[in-house]
Amino acid sequence: MPELPEVETIVRELSDLSGARIERLQVLDPRLELPVHEIIGTTIEKIERQGKYIVFRLSGGRSLIVHLRMSGRLTRTRSPEEVRHTRFILHLDRGKVYFINPRRLGTVEYSRNGFPHQLGIDPFDPEFTPERLAEVVMASRAPIKPLLMNQKKIAGIGNIYSAEALWRARIDPCRAGNTLTHKEIRALHPSIVGVLKEAVDHMGTTLGDTVSDYRNTSGEYGEFQEVLSVYGREGKPCRRCGKKIERIVQAGRSTYLCPGCQR
Ligand SMILES: [Zn+2]
Repeated sequence: MPELPEVETIVRELSDLSGARIERLQVLDPRLELPVHEIIGTTIEKIERQGKYIVFRLSGGRSLIVHLRMSGRLTRTRSPEEVRHTRFILHLDRGKVYFINPRRLGTVEYSRNGFPHQLGIDPFDPEFTPERLAEVVMASRAPIKPLLMNQKKIAGIGNIYSAEALWRARIDPCRAGNTLTHKEIRALHPSIVGVLKEAVDHMGTTLGDTVSDYRNTSGEYGEFQEVLSVYGREGKPCRRCGKKIERIVQAGRSTYLCPGCQR
């Protein structure tokens, strides 16, 4: 699933559409309930990221809010095989944006009064300090990995980057939040921010090559999968200590860790 770096990549690539006018909205999925006539004629004032959401701020205080979930994509070009997976097309006075959603898991919402979801602090927010992270982590008995993935506490981190950040900080993903020391949290903070920034620099992570896998708005794969340290590396040697990476299941999701340096 696209996480903060993949969504940030898409939002940055679409930033030149600020000021574009929506001339037509083609809804190709009858399950998308959008007030097409209300959206046509509005101007995109800004496209921004809220956690893992992509928010088109429209004139008149309206918003079109896209969440890619497992397989959704926003793209400016589409391949022939993507035509039948296209759920809407925004026709702008400067090009088109396609919403490709093969497994129909991505969501599209329309809001007349702001962003409708409660999200925790964003790791790229200047207020996301080690102290703020300590407040979130030390107040919870939940295991640290699902805690980092809880969007109501910290917004934008999912299964891949939580595993990577914990490996960098040498913290066992199963440790309860309130058992972490200040020293560990001081190591975890730059690990979170660092891995997310590096992943943005690599245009995110693409794990497969099917129509459902993440790509940027030009249809190109991300490149961070080449540098992942633990995620998806079960049985391979740890890049730091050489022990074999293990996979466990935690809160229903695969968790990868090094038994040599995280336990
Ligand atoms: Zn190791």
